Amino acid sequence: MRAAILSGDKLVIKDVPKPAPRYEEALIKLTVAGVCHSDVHIVKRDWWKMPSTAEIPIGHEGIGIVEELGPGAERFVQKGDRVILGLGGFAGAYWCGACEYCLNGRPRLCRLQRPLSGTYAEYISVWAKALVKLPDQVNDNEVPLACGGLTTYSAIKKLFKYGVTPGKTVAIVGAAGGLGHYATQIAKLFGYVVVGVDIGRERLEFVKSMGADYALDASEAAQFVRDKLGGAHASIVLSPRVAGFELGLALLRRSGVFIGVGMPAASEGGITLMPLDILNRDLLIMSSGAGTVDEMTELVQIAAAGKIKSHIAKVAPLEQAPEILEELEQGKYTGRAILKI
Ligand SMILES: [Zn+2]
Ligand SMILES: [Zn+2]
Repeated sequence: MRAAILSGDKLVIKDVPKPAPRYEEALIKLTVAGVCHSDVHIVKRDWWKMPSTAEIPIGHEGIGIVEELGPGAERFVQKGDRVILGLGGFAGAYWCGACEYCLNGRPRLCRLQRPLSGTYAEYISVWAKALVKLPDQVNDNEVPLACGGLTTYSAIKKLFKYGVTPGKTVAIVGAAGGLGHYATQIAKLFGYVVVGVDIGRERLEFVKSMGADYALDASEAAQFVRDKLGGAHASIVLSPRVAGFELGLALLRRSGVFIGVGMPAASEGGITLMPLDILNRDLLIMSSGAGTVDEMTELVQIAAAGKIKSHIAKVAPLEQAPEILEELEQGKYTGRAILKI
């Protein structure tokens, strides 16, 4: 089968053996894969010191049809089911289900969790428990819900948990990107006042079109939010830049909630935190990554009801994956790119 594989420092399209489903796995014939900004970092190997020799199958967003079942998988899906490969880049391949984190609904922290990787391919064999069935109303263009949508949905749901109730002001940093365009729609759906922050006129127009109450350029956001809105009750940083994290902190009012989601390259270094400032403003600082199968199921229902839509800027064949990643890195798209397989 054809697949996009990271080999050395290059993403190449090549023929690899078709996988066979093992215990509790389902073989999926993929019809579409989403291109996530994480894939750019994985291909550049700039998050951690990743060994440059290992060959890595790329892609963690997919929609396809269940073609074959391994032993035990029939408890979760059936042949012919159309499914979305949920859970994004974390815990989508396996989690134990029995440790303190799994039992508390946080499988991403499970010591045994394995990331899902390899949707830029004709087939993938995955743990059937991580699959979510798709209603017909949700078409293949909604594939970025699998990571971009899910990650955003899970982050916004944390607002409730930490006391940021509907009607309050939520700033979204990186609002025109793959995650950001979901964030604006979901936060509006939940009843927040949304301040979308991004860079450049065209991207801000897009943020406005997604329903943001305010669309602000990063250069003016801190002053506007502080002076005109008294600071945000929460900020969600989707930008994969350290500057985005620092802006997210600057936008908060006293008792603000900060949720970091974007994953800047390690070479960008850390953020500066002033202990006195955290104390004075009594900030709550946390992160959020991927989501759970439950959350994926909820999100699919929201999409089926037509309340959230993926904005697809580019559709390309699998063979163009390397070029698409380059264009994504250069920030050429608002919303998402997808690969038809
Ligand atoms: Zn992703
Ligand atoms: Zn576990």
